[in-house]
Amino acid sequence: MKRAKYIIARLKEAGFEAYMVGGAVRDYLRGAVPHDIDVATSASPEQVKALFERSIDTGIEHGTVMILIEGQGTEVTTFRTESGYSDNRRPDKVEFVKSLHEDLKRRDFTINAMAMTEQMEIIDPFGGRDDLKAGIIRAVGVPEERFSEDALRMLRAIRFSGQLNFQIDLATKQAISDYAKNIQSVAMERVKAELDKVMVSAAPGISMKYLVETRLTRFLPSGGLFELDWSGYTASFDPLSGWFYLLHKHGEAFSAIRDYRFSNQDKKDLQRALEASRLPLWDDWVYYSFTERQLTIAQAATHKTEAVKERQQALPIQSKSELAANGRDLMEWAGKKAGPWLKDWTLRIEKAVVERRLANDKERIKDWFIDEYHRHT
Ligand code: ATP
Ligand code: MG
Repeated sequence: MKRAKYIIARLKEAGFEAYMVGGAVRDYLRGAVPHDIDVATSASPEQVKALFERSIDTGIEHGTVMILIEGQGTEVTTFRTESGYSDNRRPDKVEFVKSLHEDLKRRDFTINAMAMTEQMEIIDPFGGRDDLKAGIIRAVGVPEERFSEDALRMLRAIRFSGQLNFQIDLATKQAISDYAKNIQSVAMERVKAELDKVMVSAAPGISMKYLVETRLTRFLPSGGLFELDWSGYTASFDPLSGWFYLLHKHGEAFSAIRDYRFSNQDKKDLQRALEASRLPLWDDWVYYSFTERQLTIAQAATHKTEAVKERQQALPIQSKSELAANGRDLMEWAGKKAGPWLKDWTLRIEKAVVERRLANDKERIKDWFIDEYHRHT
């Protein structure tokens, strides 16, 4: 807030208008901490840049420059409108405008279309404050127009409903139903980014309900999977928790959601989480052989309250390297050269130690190994 206020003061000294806008104002009014503060101004990007020492052209063609103060960035955007959304997504043209009001008018929802002066006076031409109080997501202007301009807004409405635990206004919801098909023109990574936010939101069930009711699910890959009772879902900070829950509940494999284009790491962690969840009891070996992330994700549906990390730290060993006997010892005890057998037996010893059937002590391991090895060969 301090940095934004400084930037605004500076712009005003130079004779320009400047306000905090969008999500930051919404969050301030809700009593939440905004994670970033956007500033809107009548100054052109060049005029903005001339006033501050350090800036980055993050989106200068859209009128946005990032001002750096003490290494922290604040986005400053020239008042603008957008027009001609021929692809239902990006505006063909961005036009700088004179007034704040015109800038607020192009914003998606009333709760996101407020501005605030540095004295904390609210400028609210579309009733955003009332909607915020009532818990309503309402499009600015004619909803049909707004969603046909930019189809991503439909998913944003649904995402905000879950994040804020808000209802979507009836006309706005109807317009989403009417334009649901257009969601297909939105790039998959944008779709996934919104769904990821739903997965970590306060009330994912609300978003999912709207996703189904507006029939957006019909136009999303494997959309039917979202139709689910989300009341048993335990969210974490990791969106994979939600995707895991969905697969787990439907008994589906990762391939069911591959169209959302997960990273290889995410794919692996989801698959491993599914494996972990299939094991009847989370014994020590499960805690040992799965990563903290994989087990945390798996908790979304298995409701283990235990903190994974603590349980892992309490294990007799944290990794193979902590075993009191190594490969060379085994070769000596077996009188045999290295080969596939070595990996196999190291794993058996590891498992016995982790499961506390064998103490992590060199002599004990030696006795156990010699015994077992001769019984098996
Ligand atoms: P978050 O907390 O998720 O960052 P936010 O409201 O700040 O929420 P951003 O995506 O950062 O959302 O966008 C900042 C502001 O820009 C919004 O509050 C809204 O006023 C406007 N905005 C963003 N995306 C759109 C869009 N697709 N159509 C219209 N206005 C938009
Ligand atoms: Mg934001």
